[in-house]
Amino acid sequence: MNQTKIDALRAHPVSAFSHLIEGKHVLRSDGGTMDITSPIDGQVLTQVARGTAADMEVAIASARTAFEDRRWAGQSPAARKKVLLKWADLIEANALELAVLGVRDNGTEIGMAIKAEPGSAAGTIRYYAEALDKIYGEIAPTSSDILGMIHKEPVGVVGAIIPWNFPLMIGAWKLAPALAMGNSVVLKPAETASLSLMRMADLALEAGLPPGVLNAITGEGAVVGEAMGLSMDVDVLAFTGSGRTGRRLMEYSARSNMKRVYLELGGKSPNIIFADAPNLDEAAKVAAGAIFRNAGQVCVAASRLLVQSSIHDEFVAAITKAAEAMKVGDPLDLTTAIGAVNSETQLKQNLGFVETATREGGKIVTGGDRILQDTGGYYMAPTIVTDVTKNATLAQEEVFGPVLGVTPFIDDDDAVRIANSTVYGLAGAVWTSNLSRAHRMVRDVRTGVMHVNTYGGADGTVPLGGVGQSGNGSDKSLHAIEKYINLKTAWIKL
Ligand code: ADP
Repeated sequence: MNQTKIDALRAHPVSAFSHLIEGKHVLRSDGGTMDITSPIDGQVLTQVARGTAADMEVAIASARTAFEDRRWAGQSPAARKKVLLKWADLIEANALELAVLGVRDNGTEIGMAIKAEPGSAAGTIRYYAEALDKIYGEIAPTSSDILGMIHKEPVGVVGAIIPWNFPLMIGAWKLAPALAMGNSVVLKPAETASLSLMRMADLALEAGLPPGVLNAITGEGAVVGEAMGLSMDVDVLAFTGSGRTGRRLMEYSARSNMKRVYLELGGKSPNIIFADAPNLDEAAKVAAGAIFRNAGQVCVAASRLLVQSSIHDEFVAAITKAAEAMKVGDPLDLTTAIGAVNSETQLKQNLGFVETATREGGKIVTGGDRILQDTGGYYMAPTIVTDVTKNATLAQEEVFGPVLGVTPFIDDDDAVRIANSTVYGLAGAVWTSNLSRAHRMVRDVRTGVMHVNTYGGADGTVPLGGVGQSGNGSDKSLHAIEKYINLKTAWIKL
């Protein structure tokens, strides 16, 4: 990856995107198109089809037909594996192009995007491609005149609704296990990050996925996402996004066919720093990255910093220094550490949270403002707020932006109490040299992923799933496969 290649790619005009239905690009919408604005400069980058409920219904019907006629599920595991591996190869071959397109659309700094987006997506697709012929059914321990078999069947049509922060990575977390198990998928990318994901869907077809097995519809969540949620013909919904939308999806399911709904929602993940952390400078640098990379637009972002009182001031000084050393700016510049905020709406929300935090007694030690406004883009300085009490808005609500709240704690019990005082439970970390304390915190902090003396970087071998209002079900690892299969019992009298 070098800057010259990136600059050449960013200069390309981006032609308009249409839906992908039955292997064809279809601009069938009576809904017309919607402008896609780049957060880099606030300029219109291209258009995508503004899908209608009717478009979504056509895409779902096509996926259903593809499932029923077994054009994909009926192929041998070896054949399906070959297609998925080819897809991963194509993503890798087009990695920089995909990453740059995605960054122009969503604003993530390219250094992170290249690894977290095409790199991660290709890895995920390979993982499930390799897994698909290693998943066996079961024979139950019945009496000898009975054969009790447990088959693992695909569920049918999976609807995948993807957010804008990491469209390829999160898209692959849903698409790869669903397709590996023989399902058809209808994909709904986010309004403000659909381009690279639509391109990745094209590459699946190029790799040999039969038409109709993967259809993709762009447009507004409230229109096409709702149509997907209310469909009588979608069997499983796999979603990553806000709690507000997650709640709606459960309602849609209840109002329609009671489809299974898997939600990966927000978080308010605590990063707990004890005075006996092995290396406080290292902890401060990692803690800054854990909240400020991708401008804080990361579901597992370590947005609450819990610091033991005896080292509070020292640690706040260290993380402030680390934050101020992170360069904010053009996400397509390789030296940028923090790219753009995804949209103007999001930026305004972030600033609103800062205002509320100060009103509630928080003190801004760095950042707090919109910056680089002359670029036309949406940028915000990494922001650290101290004196955030356990029940303050900043300690309770997800910002999804570069805003860190700092809360002191006294001892282990106090840390656990504060850590567990939100409705969320997605990720967290503890920094300590004490082995027992580390394990106790892993046990006691109510969360899906707990890090010790690090933050982030958990690879595809381990599940990511939330507890509480952070969601249900898991992405990644072999456990994700459970979402996309049904168990069927065959009870046979011999
Ligand atoms: P955010 O508020 O961070 O944009 P959302 O939950 O609104 O998060 O968005 C995540 C995904 O959910 C996007 O693909 C979006 O289009 C979709 N979405 C938004 N509203 C709805 C809805 N009412 N029904 C279904 N999907 C929706």
